[in-house]
Amino acid sequence: MTSPILRLDNINKSFGALPASKDVSLDLRAGEIHALIGPNGAGKSTLIKQIAGELHPDTGRIYLEEQDVTALSVAQRAKRGLARTFQVSALAMEDSALQNAMLGAIGISGHPYWPFGKALRHGELRAIAEYALERVGLAEHASTRTSELSHGQRRQLEVAVALTMKPRAFVMDEPMAGLGTQGSQALTEFLSELRNEAPILMVEHDMDAVFALADRLSVLVYGEIIATGNVDEIRNDLTVQRAYLGEEQ
Ligand code: ADP
Ligand code: MG
Repeated sequence: MTSPILRLDNINKSFGALPASKDVSLDLRAGEIHALIGPNGAGKSTLIKQIAGELHPDTGRIYLEEQDVTALSVAQRAKRGLARTFQVSALAMEDSALQNAMLGAIGISGHPYWPFGKALRHGELRAIAEYALERVGLAEHASTRTSELSHGQRRQLEVAVALTMKPRAFVMDEPMAGLGTQGSQALTEFLSELRNEAPILMVEHDMDAVFALADRLSVLVYGEIIATGNVDEIRNDLTVQRAYLGEEQ
């Protein structure tokens, strides 16, 4: 088997006396969507933050493409291709979709302080940004002001920004949050394709989306992974039903 893109090895993290991650090991493989589910307060966001580098584990290691990134900062991990999307939106609402995508391309160009005008004339960066917009289906909205895009389109734009940075893995905490039924369905279709660009580790409460999308699921309860498997395995797992799914259905 090829080595995983992202790998957590025995992560432990406590807030005072409260253990939020207990011996968590999981991996993300090429081409897959791996969903992390579990009740509120289970420690899902805490885990995502440790992967992104916003929090550091007390013990355990995190590997990106088999390189130990445990001690690296958020920016260093992003530079190595870890794309953390859909947190509090980092988009500039008054700028166009293309300008937002350009910002991402400028970030990796080695010229992060270029003013916009100069960057926009820089054909190569502009082409990278335009191509990213095309890949997320926003080509015809390149000059649309970001504030005029729908919620769902803004999430697509965030992915376009991430694509300009050549992501190796996507990490998402509740991508469906705040979207209506239609928006969730559209984003579900979009994410389904996105896994071919880079694998996705996602926390999500919307079980319709999770069951439609996930190649594998891991269930986190009180900081511990109680099961990992495909949709059928997780649905039929009695421990999971008792600890989590049972309460929802
Ligand atoms: P989830 O995302 O699964 O709902 P969280 O990871 O947000 O859960 O939280 C897991 C537990 O850790 C909760 O009990 C929460 O109150 C606690 N927690 C999260 N962040 C902090 C923090 N910065 N300081 C102290 N406790 C925290
Ligand atoms: Mg959370």
